[in-house]
Parts: sequence; structure tokens; C-alpha cells
Amino acid sequence: MTDFSTLALAAPIAEALEATGYTTPTPIQAQAIPHVLEGRDLLGIAQTGTGKTAAFALPILDRLARKPGPLPRKGTRVLVLAPTRELAGQIATSFQKYGQFLKLSIGTAFGGVPINKHIRQMVRGTDVLVATPGRLIDLIDRKAMTLNDVEVLVLDEADQMLDLGFIHALRRIVPLLPRRRQTLFFSATMPAQIAELAGKYLDEPVEVSVAPAATTAEKVAQRAHFVAQGEKQALLAHTLRDDAIDRVLVFTRTKHGADRVVRNLERDGIKSAAIHGNKSQPQRERALAAFRSGHCRVLVATDIAARGVDVPGVSHVVNFEIPNVAEQYVHRIGRTARAGAEGLAISFVAPDERNYLRDIERLTRQAVEVMPLPEGFTHQPAPAPKAEAGRGGAGKPGGGGKPGPSRRRRPRNAGAPAGGKPAGNRQPRRQQGGSHAS
Ligand code: AMP
Repeated sequence: MTDFSTLALAAPIAEALEATGYTTPTPIQAQAIPHVLEGRDLLGIAQTGTGKTAAFALPILDRLARKPGPLPRKGTRVLVLAPTRELAGQIATSFQKYGQFLKLSIGTAFGGVPINKHIRQMVRGTDVLVATPGRLIDLIDRKAMTLNDVEVLVLDEADQMLDLGFIHALRRIVPLLPRRRQTLFFSATMPAQIAELAGKYLDEPVEVSVAPAATTAEKVAQRAHFVAQGEKQALLAHTLRDDAIDRVLVFTRTKHGADRVVRNLERDGIKSAAIHGNKSQPQRERALAAFRSGHCRVLVATDIAARGVDVPGVSHVVNFEIPNVAEQYVHRIGRTARAGAEGLAISFVAPDERNYLRDIERLTRQAVEVMPLPEGFTHQPAPAPKAEAGRGGAGKPGGGGKPGPSRRRRPRNAGAPAGGKPAGNRQPRRQQGGSHAS
């Protein structure tokens, strides 16, 4: 493993890394930074938790440190586009942290903040502007800014931009940028539309790819309870009474679901806060700050809102509801066990969610350990034993056997092994103890 000194970053950046306590680049950083320093375009396949923010922020800061210039009036030298406010805020904070010994103007522009603030900021211009596409277009349409001075463009979480409907905005923004620029493009996945955009916006890019979704999950111990939907709230309260859980993210599928969980926890005497798209920016910031500082140890979030929530030391993730898209599960549990730490994910699986769990196990090629319910909860019968699916690294259905029919088979009501442990494919591939060595 290299350490940061071999990358020969400008002294103020090396100093900031030391102050931050980073010594060793993560794989995406080690692979990407030398190319970005050379000025190459980059296509990075990486998801949150891999250290991708520093992979682009450090070499960009290096460029700004070595080539200082006046702030472009109504413009920015570096434009970073991110799909959500949270992620944009997080990226700006990273630039500030790694650039703390440089005198730079680092701005943000996203919805939920009065636009006049952004208009005023752009009068002077910025070195780095981190924006969501919607607000950026708003500023351009109001003639509050131009993109003529952009030297470096970063597109972060491009696949999420697609999911959130920003593709049209991107198609408007990119032609407004100078042709001569450096472009860094990050995405966790490469659906066809994203590949097409990358092909159009990037010039002979270097491709780097780390930890495909399925492998990130390996650092997280994963457990599940088979529980009736109606008992999930009580099980959550029970689970949260464990003092070992010191910072926990609870995921619900809907905004209303998140609010309901918070209300019910309050009734149970457990303090929590919700973060989702219906909350105002100050509300979100307050909730995050309380969670970060430890004043509130339970944060209840929807998938989209949790994007970009970067809180070190999240010890647990609870999936109050199981996502119907398996990749989302990987994103969720990636909130714990960040940058090499270990974490624990607990999924509350209602009978009608078991198929989702099976899809997840196929994607991650790992079995989730099913735990018995605590006393007082209604035992949920396990599904019938499965054929080969999910075992021994068979990533896709159909790895030799005929898993099709068994997938669709309804859970049987009798014959469940005691304690809720199903037979068949639920043997963990390796023991998922609370403290496995790594
Ligand atoms: P990211 O994938 O950019 O969201 O980063 C994930 C987490 O890893 C963040 O909390 C970073 O602060 C942290 N991190 C990034 N790079 C390093 C590094 N080289 N050493 C230790 N932690 C890091």
C-alpha cells in the first residue's frame, strides 16, 4: 500500500490530510489521483463509502493550489454536480476540510436555501461550486452565473442523477461548459444511459473501478429477523434498548413511514429524528447535526435522503423495511462500516418481503443470518428450504440448478426449524459474528 506522500500533493493539502488523520489512500484514491493530477478525464465506478470524494477533491485542490487565480466573476473554476442536497453539502465540507490550509472560496448551491444567497455568492464567484443540477439551472436562467470559466467538472453519483430525473438538466448544463476542461465522472453503476453520457462528456478517460456493490457488503455483519409487519415497531424499540447501539440509521421505504417510526419511538421514550424529502433544509440540518454530535442516536431516513449522509461511527443500520431494489440495500448498509470500519446491519423482514431478501442475497452473494425473535414476539415461520440459489458464490439465479420455481414458492406454514432459523440456503457463507477478524 502506498501512503499519501508518494502522491506528492501540494504541501498545504498534505498537511490537511495529516490533520484529518488519513495516512493511506483508499483503493479508488490510489488508482484515480495520479491520473487526475496529470489532467486526464476519469470514469470512476465507485459508490459512497469508498473514499471517492477525496479521490476527486484532493487532485482538484492540488490544481487550485498550484495554479491560483482570481475568482471568476459570476463563475466558478470547479463545478461539482451532485444529485442531492445532503451529498452536495457533504462534498463541500470535504473540500473545506482538505483545503483548510488554502485560501479558497468553496460554495454550494442547492434547493431549500433562499436563492438570493446563491446569487450574492456568485457575484464574487467561487473556486469550487458544489451544486445540484436544478438550482444550478435556476441560477443560470436568472443570469446570476455562467459556466464559461469552469476548468474542471465533476459529476458525482451519475446513476442517482438519472434516477432522480436530472438527466434533462445535465443535458442542458454540459453544453454550456467550455470544451477544454477536465471531466471526472463517478457512478456506482453503469446503466446504458449513463454509459452514453460518459461517452459523450469524457475525452479518452482513464477508467477506475473499485468494490462493485456486492463486495462492499462483506465488511458489514448482516442479520435479519423474520417478523410480522405489525410487530416491527415493538421490535425496533426492543432492539434500540441495547446500549451497544450507539449510532443507528433506521431505513423506511416512505417519508410517512419515517415520520410514523419517529412518533412511535417517542411514545416508547426513545428519542429519534427523521430526515426525508418533506423536511425543510434547516430541519434536515438540525437532525443531522444532532445525530452527528450524538445528541440523538437514532436517525430515521428514506433511501434518497440518506444519500450523502456521511456520519462517522454509525454502528448499526436497521432496515425497518426491506428495499425492493437489492442495490439499495447495499447502499444502506454501506452507511455503516465506512472506510474499513465494521458495522452491523439488522433487517426486519415481513413475510411479503422475503423475496426481496433473497434477491439481496443473490446480489451480495452472501447469506444473511436469520436471528430468532426475542421473547414475546410472534414466531414467523420460515420459508421452505431452497435449492441451490445464493450458495457458494452463485451470483445469478440459474447457477446450475433450476431456482425459478423455488423462488416463487410461497412460504410454507409448517415445518419451520425452531427459533426461526430456516434451513437450506441460510447458512452464512462465513460466520457473521459480532466481531469477525479482518
Ligand atoms: P466517501 O466514499 O467519499 O463518501 O468517503 C467515505 C468515508 O471515508 C468518509 O467518511 C471519509 O471521510 C473517509 N475517508 C476517505 N478517504 C479516507 C482515507 N484515505 N483514510 C481514511 N478515511 C477516509
